[in-house]
Amino acid sequence: MEVCSQLPVLPLDRPVPQHVLRRRGAISLGTSSALFGGPSPRQLCKRRGGVSYNSADQAVLYLHLLGDVKQRGPGPSEPVRGAPHSHVKVDYQRFHCHQGPVRPGARGLKSHRRRLSFQRGLKSRHLRQRPSGPQHLLDQVYNCQVKCMLDKVDSWDFDIFMFDRATNGNGLVTLTFHLFLQLGLTRLFRLDPIKLRSFLVMVQADYHQRNPYHNSLHATDVTQAMYCFLRQPKLATTLSSCDMLLALVAAVTHDLDHPGVNQGFLVRTGHHLAALYKNSSVLESHHWRCAVSLLRESGLLDHLPITDRSERLGSLILATDISQQNRYLARFREHLDREDLSMADPSHRHLVLQITMKCADICNPCRVWRLSSQWSSRVTAEFFHQGDVEKKHGMAVSPLCDRLSDSTAHIQAGFIRHVVEPLFREWCRFSCTSLSHRMLAHLQTNLDRWTDPSQPPPYRYSNPDHLLET
Ligand SMILES: [Zn+2]
Repeated sequence: MEVCSQLPVLPLDRPVPQHVLRRRGAISLGTSSALFGGPSPRQLCKRRGGVSYNSADQAVLYLHLLGDVKQRGPGPSEPVRGAPHSHVKVDYQRFHCHQGPVRPGARGLKSHRRRLSFQRGLKSRHLRQRPSGPQHLLDQVYNCQVKCMLDKVDSWDFDIFMFDRATNGNGLVTLTFHLFLQLGLTRLFRLDPIKLRSFLVMVQADYHQRNPYHNSLHATDVTQAMYCFLRQPKLATTLSSCDMLLALVAAVTHDLDHPGVNQGFLVRTGHHLAALYKNSSVLESHHWRCAVSLLRESGLLDHLPITDRSERLGSLILATDISQQNRYLARFREHLDREDLSMADPSHRHLVLQITMKCADICNPCRVWRLSSQWSSRVTAEFFHQGDVEKKHGMAVSPLCDRLSDSTAHIQAGFIRHVVEPLFREWCRFSCTSLSHRMLAHLQTNLDRWTDPSQPPPYRYSNPDHLLET
């Protein structure tokens, strides 16, 4: 249903223009169609199905109908005279039918077992048979907007918020699946597309969507940033495919099951995770264990030889612990000063991957203002929510979490000056590409806006509560 809502609506009882049928896409159906015999169209969902056109099988026009429909006349599985397709196939999917299963006849009965178009796309055999065509699931979903956006997924101005809306909140699954194909990882490691998708669906579900910041959208954004970094010459020409696989998995899982509060809160409240991980990198250790658990549950990498991938994955995720940043940065800076960083050395390469992971995680202030400012509002909302909980339970309010004394501008200015800028200055020394210079330029512009007292609200507002309601 969500997929159909993205599509243009054409009533079924009107002729479909040739140019629409010829295009590679689909049409969703309004309930005014004469084929629908439900008790009242108003009692039905606004859109009940869709028409799709498979360019590989131009003799067939597929109708996809959800349940609660009655069939009139001989049924739409008969050939349609004058239509550009020799016959029409109907997919019936029961929605909440009260009148027993629909039995559309022999051909229809066969079709009844079929799934909706995007569900059919989940068959691994089907996916594997399309090595030369556009290689992502969205060809089955027929979402042109998403496809256009994915064509520019390597852009630093990629609008992740719009992408998430276009995918109905399934940005993590859609984008990461696409990136696996783009990097050739699915083919190279013979990954089962079903297991990959199943893994990504579980990852997306394990993020807490109620968190204003640490949710699946943040993980998607970090994964997109990671992809941009992996394409930079120094990484693209030196990293192995295994490095790239680990980097993508680390990016998409690095905040799994984040509770929306920081480590200090977990320690002070005696949370079981704090005890389990001995008050050290509590959240990051948990994210890592969750990632390993989902990899095992999905069986995604089971066919690959057992290596140290779990430990390497863990070391990438643990590198996102901001309290440990100086340790990583000092090592990285030393190598840059001595000019002895060798990408042929696996340990050096892994250090670079850890720094890359850190950059992807905190690159929000390096994005263009219209994207960066949205992330700033979100993270402030999460901080303030923690502060509210602490006040409610008579605890001391954590730094940056008091909505009465802190503001988005104040938090961002400190974050940029003390955390982001030192990291990205070193990254720029290492990478030295147009992207790294551009990120520093955005960083300076954003800092100027947060510290400019003449900027009117909302640039300096301090009450991003509305994000908690989304
Ligand atoms: Zn993160």
